[in-house]
Amino acid sequence: MIRATIVTAALLACVTPTLFAWNETGHRLTAAIAYDYLTPQARARVDALLRRHPDYKTLLTKGAPADAAGKARAAFLVASYWPDTIRNDPRFYDESRADAKPTRQLPGFPSMASHPTWHYVDFNFSLDGTAIPPIETPNALTELNRLIPAVAGRDQMLASYSLPWLIHLAGDVHNPLHTVSRYSKLLPKGDRGGNDVWVRPTREGAQAVNLHSFWDGLGGTDPSPAYVDRYAKELRDAYTPPVPDTHPETWVVEGFYNARSVAYKFSLENGTRDNPLPLTRDYEDPARTLSRERLAAAGMRLAAVLNDRLR
Ligand SMILES: [Zn+2]
Repeated sequence: MIRATIVTAALLACVTPTLFAWNETGHRLTAAIAYDYLTPQARARVDALLRRHPDYKTLLTKGAPADAAGKARAAFLVASYWPDTIRNDPRFYDESRADAKPTRQLPGFPSMASHPTWHYVDFNFSLDGTAIPPIETPNALTELNRLIPAVAGRDQMLASYSLPWLIHLAGDVHNPLHTVSRYSKLLPKGDRGGNDVWVRPTREGAQAVNLHSFWDGLGGTDPSPAYVDRYAKELRDAYTPPVPDTHPETWVVEGFYNARSVAYKFSLENGTRDNPLPLTRDYEDPARTLSRERLAAAGMRLAAVLNDRLR
């Protein structure tokens, strides 16, 4: 907490829309890790909260196994990227737009806003003296601190609505590029969490990709249960938890330092789609290792929060 406060005061600032999150696979991985660490009490509570969710019978259990335990776990995994799916759902509207038009209020939802700014908190930095704007709210950190108590609160509709958001944002902020934007003379309005930086991965035949997407996909791109369950087990086995940290402030400050030291290891250049910065194994190997640690930490920490609040 102290470390977070110092960093917040000293270097931070700002936000502009970031386009993606961990992809569906990454979110499913953190949720799968978390679900297996839940206590029986917490698991029963999250299962019950999701059953109350207005989208339980549709989106959350589409294609789920028929047995009760399999269905409950499947719903928890789908809930992990529900906040991404509603971005293209006409029931919801983007309240961050100047011309936002609220959609019809539906039963069971406290809000029909799609909340695109909740997915990240940009602690901005510049290495060449470019001015950085102040941090914007609401952001992932303000919302995590609101969602955690809401999930355990008396208002069951709010708790049920908040749970997919909590699962999702706990994952998002463990992606280093969801906690930072880099400002420079070349990009004085910031790079939007790496969305405006173009790189070419070392993989044979790889196309140019923006840096944010490169990080979003580091957990893989296969959302199938076979892949997710196998990789989640591998991560659980590889990263035996110490006592997981349950403070979102710590999660995002770590993300800021991870971004500075690993994600933005190259020069001040940003590349272009036609002339991307070539990545090297010296960049990609530590990036992949860090992504594994962050996915595992996200899952274990989410479980710790839920175990603590839903006794
Ligand atoms: Zn997201």
